[in-house]
Amino acid sequence: MTDTKSHTPSPTDQTAAQVRFEDFGLSPDILRALTEQGYVHPTPIQAQAIPVVLQGKDVMGAAQTGTGKTAGFSLPIIQRLLAHANSSASPARHPVRALILTPTRELADQVAENVKAYSRFTPLRSTVVFGGVDMNPQTAALRVGVEIVIATPGRLLDHVQQKTINLSQTQILVMDEADRMLDMGFLPDLQRIINLLPKQRQNLMFSATFSPEIKKLAASFLNQPQTIEVARSNATSDNVTQILYKVSEEEKRDAVSFIIRERGLKQVIVFSNTKIGASRLAVHLVKQGVKAAAIHGDKSQNERMVALEDFKRGEVEVLVATDVAARGLDISEMPCVINFDLPYNAEDYVHRIGRTGRAGAKGDAISLHTDQDERLLVDIEKLIKQKIVRLQLSGFVATSVHTERAKPTRERFDSGSRHESGSRHDARPARGYQPPREKVDPWFLKPYTPSTTATLPVATAQTEEASAAKPQKRAALLGGLLKARS
Ligand code: AMP
Repeated sequence: MTDTKSHTPSPTDQTAAQVRFEDFGLSPDILRALTEQGYVHPTPIQAQAIPVVLQGKDVMGAAQTGTGKTAGFSLPIIQRLLAHANSSASPARHPVRALILTPTRELADQVAENVKAYSRFTPLRSTVVFGGVDMNPQTAALRVGVEIVIATPGRLLDHVQQKTINLSQTQILVMDEADRMLDMGFLPDLQRIINLLPKQRQNLMFSATFSPEIKKLAASFLNQPQTIEVARSNATSDNVTQILYKVSEEEKRDAVSFIIRERGLKQVIVFSNTKIGASRLAVHLVKQGVKAAAIHGDKSQNERMVALEDFKRGEVEVLVATDVAARGLDISEMPCVINFDLPYNAEDYVHRIGRTGRAGAKGDAISLHTDQDERLLVDIEKLIKQKIVRLQLSGFVATSVHTERAKPTRERFDSGSRHESGSRHDARPARGYQPPREKVDPWFLKPYTPSTTATLPVATAQTEEASAAKPQKRAALLGGLLKARS
């Protein structure tokens, strides 16, 4: 049974701003890599997680992508594995010692890039394996011997089956975005993988939400974990101008292309609640001469990578994304985000618009809403504790409404459009629909209360996702430059 212990006070139990990476006793080779990355101060999750992971303890981390959690677990893992680092050419001297599981290929790729960057001045080797691409190059990389493997569960099991990977010496297991792995139906795969690992190992689990299923999973495989939590913030940045435009359901797609053209937007994420909605909107925009691409779970690996790369290079100007597809993406410095649909969960609104207005920059968050969205709007405004400005979309005339009338809501939604996060949200709210109120387990939303033996203050609130703003600014966003600001 999981015994969720609170954080034990230690010399590193200070706020992130007071701590420096040097204070953790990390190797000079790691510190050098961090300097190259431009990291100055650890983020709150890093300040909490690094010392605990270094002690070899199990961790249950409540943190989202964008909080710096990847370095929070990778840096101490690299440090711990340095004891085994060697430059022998023999694969036998480089067994898999740490396994990092992620739900998606994109996240696996991002984590792998970070691990490579942080370990680049050490002899440790790492590689990434994920599905949807040729297995042979992955097999070749594994054969050479690697200490750290980042993997999606399905492809990892393919390699296990082909005997191209041996997990019998894995000392550390990380489950990143565990909630999403469960949402995506990976539980049986996870259980099979866990059964392949030595019983004696360190386990780290990170999840943005803690549903009863997640707690059950944690209970079954974590050993007296320490809970590390970076509290959510429902505050929206003052730098973000929030606007609402009321349109009819049928006008929405034209309204998006009108806004993009009128404002001359060159880099914008448009959020759609459904995969089919994202695809249709992207097609519609392309027809209107807008450089757009859709990114969601039904797209092939190659399509997603190409869309993302093209967007980062500026060749695609509008990325139409679902929440799940967008969640793990390290896309930053958005001048504008558009909500094609208002999200079913008010918290997703905060996360979506948090992609703009970073590092002191100004940003616009434009949302379309229809008569049927009133309830969602009430929830959002209640959460962010402010009324969003309602404006007229002046000069807008829908052009394709007559040729492409939308079907009635229920029918349109049921015809194959599936929300990505799983069955809980499978239906677009029809009239009278009650949006899911509790995507997040209430247990998770409770303020973190240390046990009587612990004195650690609750970490600074964070919801910001990844930002590629100048590293110092980014650290500030991530909560790592509090001292400098105060
Ligand atoms: P993550 O939540 O791990 O995906 O990290 C979010 C982004 O923050 C990534 O682009 C990291 O490179 C960056 N990052 C992580 N830690 C720090 C830090 N201490 N200072 C500045 N940037 C960081």
